[in-house]
Amino acid sequence: MNNAILSTPEKTYENISHASNEVAGRLAARLAQETQGEVLFTSADRGRYATDASIYQVIPLGVFVPRDSQEVSIAMDICRDLGVPIVPRGGGTSQCGQTTGAGLVIDHSKYVRNVLHIDSEKRTAVVEPGLVLDHLNAQLKSKGLWFPVDVSTSAQATLGGMAGNNSCGSRSIAYGNMVHNVLGATARMSDGSVMQLGRFEQSTGRAKAVGEFVQQLAKQLQPEIDAHWPKVLRRVAGYNLDIFCNQNERPYTTDGSVNLAHLLVGSEGTLAMTQSLTLQLAELPRAKVLGVVNFPTFYQAMDAAQHIVKLGSGTLTAVELVDRTMIDLSLQNPAFAPTIRTALTGDPEAILLVEFAGADKESLKPHMRQLVELMGDLGLPNCVVEMIDDAPQKNLWEVRKAGLNIMMSLKGDGKPVSFIEDCAVPLVHLAEYTNALTEVFKRHGTKGTWYAHASVGTLHVRPILDMRRDGAKKMRQIGEEASELVRKFKGAYSGEHGDGLCRGEWIEWQFGSRINDAFKQIKQHLDPLNLLSPQRIIDPPKMDDTRLMRYGNNYQVIHIKTALDWSAWNVHNDPVTEQTTAPGTGEDPSHGLAKAVEMCNNNGTCRKFDAGTMCPSYRVTRDEKHLTRGRANTLRLALTGQLGTEGLANPDVMEALDLCVGCKGCKRDCPTGVDMARMKIEATHHFKAHYGFTLKDKLIAYLPRYAPWAAKFASILNLRNQFPWLAKVAESMTGLSAQRSWPTWQSDHFFSKQQPGVSKQEVLQSTKPVVLFVDTFNGFFESSNATAALGVLQAAGYSVHIASKDAPSGSQGHLCCGRTFLANGMVEQARQQAHELVNALLPFAQKGIAIVGLEPSCLLTLRDEALVLGLGASAELVSQHAVLFEEFLASEHKAGKLEVLKQNLKPAEKDILLHGHCHQKAFGLMPSVLDVIQLIPQAKPQLIESSCCGMAGSFGYEASHLDVSMQMAELSLLPAIRHQPDAIVVADGTSCRHQIADGAAREAIHVAQLLSDHLLRH
Ligand SMILES: Cc1cc2nc3c(=O)[nH]c(=O)nc-3n(C[C@H](O)[C@H](O)[C@H](O)COP(=O)(O)OP(=O)(O)OC[C@H]3O[C@@H](n4cnc5c(N)ncnc54)[C@H](O)[C@@H]3O)c2cc1C
Ligand code: SF4
Ligand code: SF4
Repeated sequence: MNNAILSTPEKTYENISHASNEVAGRLAARLAQETQGEVLFTSADRGRYATDASIYQVIPLGVFVPRDSQEVSIAMDICRDLGVPIVPRGGGTSQCGQTTGAGLVIDHSKYVRNVLHIDSEKRTAVVEPGLVLDHLNAQLKSKGLWFPVDVSTSAQATLGGMAGNNSCGSRSIAYGNMVHNVLGATARMSDGSVMQLGRFEQSTGRAKAVGEFVQQLAKQLQPEIDAHWPKVLRRVAGYNLDIFCNQNERPYTTDGSVNLAHLLVGSEGTLAMTQSLTLQLAELPRAKVLGVVNFPTFYQAMDAAQHIVKLGSGTLTAVELVDRTMIDLSLQNPAFAPTIRTALTGDPEAILLVEFAGADKESLKPHMRQLVELMGDLGLPNCVVEMIDDAPQKNLWEVRKAGLNIMMSLKGDGKPVSFIEDCAVPLVHLAEYTNALTEVFKRHGTKGTWYAHASVGTLHVRPILDMRRDGAKKMRQIGEEASELVRKFKGAYSGEHGDGLCRGEWIEWQFGSRINDAFKQIKQHLDPLNLLSPQRIIDPPKMDDTRLMRYGNNYQVIHIKTALDWSAWNVHNDPVTEQTTAPGTGEDPSHGLAKAVEMCNNNGTCRKFDAGTMCPSYRVTRDEKHLTRGRANTLRLALTGQLGTEGLANPDVMEALDLCVGCKGCKRDCPTGVDMARMKIEATHHFKAHYGFTLKDKLIAYLPRYAPWAAKFASILNLRNQFPWLAKVAESMTGLSAQRSWPTWQSDHFFSKQQPGVSKQEVLQSTKPVVLFVDTFNGFFESSNATAALGVLQAAGYSVHIASKDAPSGSQGHLCCGRTFLANGMVEQARQQAHELVNALLPFAQKGIAIVGLEPSCLLTLRDEALVLGLGASAELVSQHAVLFEEFLASEHKAGKLEVLKQNLKPAEKDILLHGHCHQKAFGLMPSVLDVIQLIPQAKPQLIESSCCGMAGSFGYEASHLDVSMQMAELSLLPAIRHQPDAIVVADGTSCRHQIADGAAREAIHVAQLLSDHLLRH
């Protein structure tokens, strides 16, 4: 890309300091001079940090990403000098706007994330605040320990953020909330002093003074505290003044002592900056069993919770709700449907996930029996699905954890909104409370989907509101009525997700004015300068202040003519039935693109590092900018004119998309299906239309068109790989790295021979027909793959026809899907290519003949982008018959049609490692490849748990991407291959094979080649 047109941070600081915003300029300059941290002050950077998983948006003055905790201190000192407020941040997954604020956002998640100490005997760990919970638990696993506050966002939530919000997990009935599991903290105050917070009786200095101050407040207010404090486990509002007179169902400490670190827990960054936390670890449960109770009515599920929690003699660890709407949404989601089906008997209105954990499964089985008996006693025999094995349990928990996100996948402007989402009521009132609140929703023309923590009376529910229209008004009305119910049932209004911008105004309502005044005194005592997250908890704004909202009064999408068809997103929805209107009727000035982008609710799932593909570029850089969320936010800001008037031609957009490899990991792994790969095509199209195409763009994009001629000069073109100086010259002209070999041209390639296979007429009349679509890459560069595929299909008894243009023969007749044009934003040229391909394949599709492809990114274009290029019903029909080689064979095998082939395969003699192409993974096709490899006797393929290989079409060939590309490959793919030097490596993607050759000096082969190599030659 053209770097000259991108703004550099240095330039931005200059601009800022020369412009009116003097303070921002000085702040940025001092941070840059006095630290090595990342100083992010562009509009796009600030916009990316203006939101979290809430409905709010507040643009900060700037963002600082410190390299270590010392740099956090320096930044705090600079902010104090300049009077700039500070907003501490971890993963930014708060739901109430805790991390949206007007000052300097300090992001701990990139660097300040070390485990400082683990004491296995005492079961304690000391950690930095930016460490992600799952990453800590991964380190603890081998010691048989874990930190048991298992929030749903465990793959992205940081421990500092969890402490800030007093987070609580699904298993809080067994382990308590964050406050019950923090033993100590080192915290820096806004005046620069550092406090060691721990047991009050052992405290000294400033910490002791703070403790005495709070103790005296608590003493004075004891009667108020006793009268007003909610007596439930899940109360997270305000400050924990009750550490001196416990009101929680579960005391904060096991020995009744007072721990001053608990004052910080739940303070949402308003009292002090956490530098480190000492955590109480727990023994990792050795065995778990799960009973899934299916209920015919929602009320019965709610009513049963109070009885179920009495089971288990201390082994009960969770009772979690999944309601009918959530069940239906899971059934519609291809990733979750098979799992949710395993949990159902009949057609329940709700299920409760009841978990028991202990030393071994045998000892837990009696509790499961008790559960079955209890349900029988309650008039519900045969309603428990018993899950004893770990794998199905794990899968079901993943679905439950993704619950909220599944719900958020509703298209249209109405979205489930979090504002009364975690009110906690005593269990005896749960059924009555949920009934009454459902009636409230009905009165306001909406409905809520209920799920989560039935064990502790904290059910999550989000009514569907349209925040661009009457959402704020309804939010106020529903909030008022919900609060009356919470008061009636003596519950807590804020029971899990904190106060932030959303619930701050309810703190005084909950506790009364005297306790609220005490909170103000605590804030004044610890942060007299009011530097830390001002107007949070103390002096909060109104929750329905639309000036603070992401979709506030001035939110307006710019008019834009899109190159791809986004009409599927351009819909309205009905908040009660959740039905959406016809595609294209949503009145989006960007024809659905903005609505597709707005599907990102900022929940941060794309920050995970575990299995799955999303998001390889973030895994390497850990930058918000290189994250699906950061990209979606950048696009949203650009599409709404918040980054200027250029729309998608804004260089900030291209900068954010630069490292997106178009892997489609997000399309599958993002719970709301944000498809950044497709968005990148659209954005690239607009950017390039404005700034023009480079030589590299054209060289890559037009490759399928010039390949037939280029192949004739193979020996000359291949000299580039033999002479380093030629490679350097080529790099300077094209930007394609001299350190990479280029694919080798073949003068004798698949298309240069007499067309093999049967004719069009023959295949149309055959009883065992297959059409093989040989793409540019396999045809011109690795023609042995095409020959191998042909041979295997013929050995299996199929009449194989090679797809080609109707008239020309040989290489002039080869077909192309348009992928190289799409990748470079040349949508019109891609449309022409795809149109030609679709027309050529249509007669076969009309006859129901399978169209088999070899290169995942090419074949799957027919099932993806070709459907949004305006090619109509023909493209739809062709897509229904377009399958990858392995998919075809796997389904034929299931149908019992491969007996001849199986008898023709000799046994495998080596281990087989399999790497999936990202698009294969995005379409859920890896099981097919595994099935097909297992046609070979004795083959035991091992799937490498890898994200993108990093080559991703031309991405890894580009000099500017070489390092990132290799880092992606080194995350897991290349080490796994090196670990097994004798194994055969199978990779169906052309670029994956090239990356493996470059990075591990190993030849990877297509699965068609593997099968062909194992054919018995008669
Ligand atoms: C889909 C979804 C599911 C969720 N499920 C749960 C759940 O099961 N249980 C639950 O409790 N929550 C849940 N949450 C809310 C959220 O994920 C948790 O509160 C999480 O712990 C926040 O972690 P974070 O790193 O994102 O913190 P952030 O959102 O970045 O910050 C949280 C608070 O901590 C403060 N903070 C951060 N670092 C520091 C520091 N160093 N010093 C002082 N203050 C600091 C911030 O200012 C902010 O007030 C969910 C959210 C989403 C979107
Ligand atoms: S892109 Fe998807 S996974 Fe990432 S924050 Fe947005 S909605 Fe969540
Ligand atoms: S397509 Fe891949 S690299 Fe791009 S945002 Fe999605 S997951 Fe990340």
